[in-house]
Amino acid sequence: MIPYGRQQIDAADIAAVIDTLQSDFLTQGPKVPAFEQAVARQCQARFAVAMNSATSALHLACLALQVGPGDRVWTSPISFVASANCAVYCGADVDFVDVDASTGLMDPAQLAIKLEQAATTNTLPKVLIPVHLAGHSCDMQRIAALCQPYNIRIIEDASHAIGGYYQHRPVGCCQYSDITVFSFHPVKIITSAEGGMALCNDPALDNQLRLLRSHGITRDAADMTEASHGPWYYQQIGLGFNYRITDLQAALGLSQLDRLQQFVHQRIKATELYQQLLQDLPVELPAPAVDGVSAWHLYIVRMHQPAKRLQVFESLRAAGIGVNVHYIPIHTQPYYQKLGFDWGQFPDAEQFYSQIISLPLFAGITPAQQQQVADALRLACSEL
Ligand SMILES: *Cc1c(COP(=O)(O)O)cnc(C)c1O
Repeated sequence: MIPYGRQQIDAADIAAVIDTLQSDFLTQGPKVPAFEQAVARQCQARFAVAMNSATSALHLACLALQVGPGDRVWTSPISFVASANCAVYCGADVDFVDVDASTGLMDPAQLAIKLEQAATTNTLPKVLIPVHLAGHSCDMQRIAALCQPYNIRIIEDASHAIGGYYQHRPVGCCQYSDITVFSFHPVKIITSAEGGMALCNDPALDNQLRLLRSHGITRDAADMTEASHGPWYYQQIGLGFNYRITDLQAALGLSQLDRLQQFVHQRIKATELYQQLLQDLPVELPAPAVDGVSAWHLYIVRMHQPAKRLQVFESLRAAGIGVNVHYIPIHTQPYYQKLGFDWGQFPDAEQFYSQIISLPLFAGITPAQQQQVADALRLACSEL
């Protein structure tokens, strides 16, 4: 089976992990801040806080922005469930902004209408979480301009997008957001096995994220409410979690980061080849990113005939092509239906969902594998 995505591990990655295994620190050592500083530098952000997953980073990003019961958080229905769950963890109410049915990205025009309506009914969100689906940045300048009059804070779910650019600056620089979150799950652009990171430019947010990552405990006298009892002293000043990443993972992530540009370049090259191989098939190919460079986490094609999607999907799987679907609209998940959502609420997301298939795309995919994917898709379409 050619998977839809997979990691690329080389000898340097293996050596980096072994080195750390033989060092004094398996966790809470020097590799974590080294990884954080390297990602912050790469992305032109002041601060980066590494965690055990992007899900954890999204949760703490919401908490750092003081999302709590009674607050509203809006995200995209076309995402992994973690983009919405993070708000539910905080006791907030989730809602969704429909997408552009041709890209699956949050639609600024629909955001504008929804904000106007929410302003009249006093139901504006505290935080908006746009999702950079497939590695393409959302139209952040417009989204930020729409949120600014209402003082809505923004978390970019950039789980797919490390290595991408928007308006000539790296995704993660937080020019149009408060916090940006990356995922380092093995299918993503670079991996630390499990792992995530939250980037920001505000020292107070950085401090909050660090506190929340490790039990709400501080060793910084400036944050303490009474004088230190001695060198052993720490204070728990809030309720935090253990969302720390290990040094083994950070060592892997740091080693992978060296090849970030190479990985994205390989992904871009692979999309160019798909463009040639697939151009005459009855599928809509993904458009390039608007106003930037996509990190190309996913290659999502749209069937002209949604009714045939299942048959084509099954035919591709039977041919050993590990296709997938990104994503089932979050509002249609049973858990979200129990919260009151239902089919029909976000029609563009539902239309997008009905058409899409993610073809295999990863840094190490070979032209021969891509030819195999194209041949299988051609055959599947001809059987319709
Ligand atoms: C992968 C992913 C997440 C969750 O990432 P983890 O690191 O697995 O927790 C969140 N949002 C999106 C859009 C993702 O693709």
